[in-house]
Order: sequence, then structure tokens, then C-alpha cells
Amino acid sequence: MIIQLEPNLDQNSRTRLIGMVESYGFELKNIRTQRAEYLIALGSPNIDIRAIGNLDGVKDIFAVNDKHKLVSNKWKTAPTVIHLDNNTTIGGEELCIMAGPCAIESETQVEEIAGFLAEKDVKIMRGGVFKPRSSPYSFRGAGIEGLKYFSSICKNHGIKIITEVMHAEQIGQMEEFVDIFQVGARNSQNYNLLDALGKTDKPIMLKRGLSGTIDELLFSAEYIFSGGNEKIILCERGIRTFETAYRNTLDLNAVPTLKAKTHLPVIVDPSHGTGNREMVEPMALAAIMCGADGIMIEMHKTPERAISDGDQSLTLPQAETLFRKMKATWDFKKE
Ligand code: PEP
Ligand code: MN
Repeated sequence: MIIQLEPNLDQNSRTRLIGMVESYGFELKNIRTQRAEYLIALGSPNIDIRAIGNLDGVKDIFAVNDKHKLVSNKWKTAPTVIHLDNNTTIGGEELCIMAGPCAIESETQVEEIAGFLAEKDVKIMRGGVFKPRSSPYSFRGAGIEGLKYFSSICKNHGIKIITEVMHAEQIGQMEEFVDIFQVGARNSQNYNLLDALGKTDKPIMLKRGLSGTIDELLFSAEYIFSGGNEKIILCERGIRTFETAYRNTLDLNAVPTLKAKTHLPVIVDPSHGTGNREMVEPMALAAIMCGADGIMIEMHKTPERAISDGDQSLTLPQAETLFRKMKATWDFKKE
């Protein structure tokens, strides 16, 4: 059960309310987010919940039997829409496109891609400055200096940025430059990081783990929400299966499954989901037809020279074609 408290409840009223609800046999967790305050009531005493709904200090009460409470759409039936201040929404009426290189490589690269995206009306650029690499000898990213020029160049073009944060200690130095924090697949269950991201007020895009289940993804999202931050975006990026013909198996079943369980927006990343540039377009379009709120793609001016993930990066002309087809597919889907 989720009990939403009246805003600005004083401490005495809160204590009294908690005591009353506990006296019915519930175990309570008090959650305070940047938007509201909730009591999560665990346990299933046999009572009529209206008895609690009528108590002083209760704004609303919801019976949620799902394991995941705050991210469940059993209580928050309207979808979560995340607003960025460049007229972009994620999870609303508009298709959300995030595009850019795997890794931020140079100022020239950011300038070229950001200029291209602005021209094509794509409002969010991706790019890693702290890269989780399978080998410690691979390029690990342009670091905080890279983030600073990534941020300032994009700002000049009216473009928001999304970039990966790898551990909690990085949040402070990154925060002022980042518009959306990305949690990578390898950190999908790093609960210390998720707790810390609950304390920021920046949107968080949480990627599914390499072998993460839907339940695990939703529990990770629940960590961020219960830590205080309601601005969460889920991302399907392919999972590890027995199949070796492509880098990952993009699990499009996840999209309607997540949309049926949660109010959070769902983004699909067909670049990491396939590992192969030729497969990005068909899977991106399929993802939109499955109900994805947006698509994240990797692109590069010269993919053969990309420092990382060149094989799955689209060229600029390929990206341009895909943007057009994605918008047409979105409009078709909405009909
Ligand atoms: C990325 O998007 O930059 C990335 C590293 O992806 P993932 O965490 O899904 O592997
Ligand atoms: Mn990549």
C-alpha cells in the first residue's frame, strides 16, 4: 500500500499518523522525494483501507500489491513525463531521440555532431566521458574536461546531454554539466550509486543489466525513486543470451512488458542491443511499434575511426534517414 501524505505535514501529525497505521499491523517505510512524501506500508493486515484514507494528513491512498511499489502504475496511472528546459519531453506525446557517439572524443567531434543534431531537430545528445570498458587497456573516456566542452558546446546549440556516471563520488563534479545521468548496464544493480542518484534532481536513465531481469530493473528503479528522485527513464539495451550471432539480444518483449507494469518512460538502445549498424534501423523502428517512448542511437562521422563501438555506430547520412523514418513510424503508431 502507498500512502501519499499531505504536503508540509508537521512532525507531530506525521508521528501520530505513522503510529496509527502501524497499530493496524503494517510495517512502514517513510519516503521523501523531491516531489512528495509517502509511506510505503508493507504487510497485509485485513483492514478496510478507507480507515487509513480518512486519517488526518493522508492526501491519497493506493492498494499496490506489486513487488515494486513506487514505480508501479497501479497507483500512478498517468505516465511519468520528464520535461527538459529546451522544450523536450520524455514519455509524453513526442518521440524522444537521443543520438551521439559512444565516447566523446574531441571538441571538433562534439561541434560537428551537435550542429548536425540541431539541424535535424534532435534535442538530446549522448556521449560517454567515463567509459566502462571490458578491457582496462581500452580508452576510458575524455573525463571531466571532456564533459565540460560536451556540455558547453551543446548548450550553444540548445541541445541537452546525457552521459554515464560510473560511481557515486563522480556525481558532485558532474552534476552542473549534465542534463540526464545515465546508469550503464554494468552498474544497473550498483545500489550505492542508485541511492546516491536518488539525491540528485536530474533525470536518470537506468539501463537494464547485461543479464538483468525485468524485476531486477524495476527494483533498481525503485531504489532511485525511494531515494528521492522520481525522474527515472528505463532503457532496454539488449541482454546476454546463448546467441552469439550478434553482440546482445535486444529484448523487445521488455517494452510492452514494462509499459504494462510501470508509469516510467521506456527508451530502447538498438546500438548496444545489436552491436551491428545494419540492424539498428529495423530494430529502432520495431521498438517504436512496440511502444517505446524513445530511441537512443550511437552515431559517428567516421565510424571506422571511432574510438569505441564503431561497428554499431551509424554514419551521419544513415542517422538522418533513421530520424526521418522514426518520426514517420511514431506518427503512424499514434494514428
Ligand atoms: C553506453 O550507452 O555508453 C553504454 C556503455 O552502454 P551499456 O551500459 O548499455 O553497455
Ligand atoms: Mn557504446
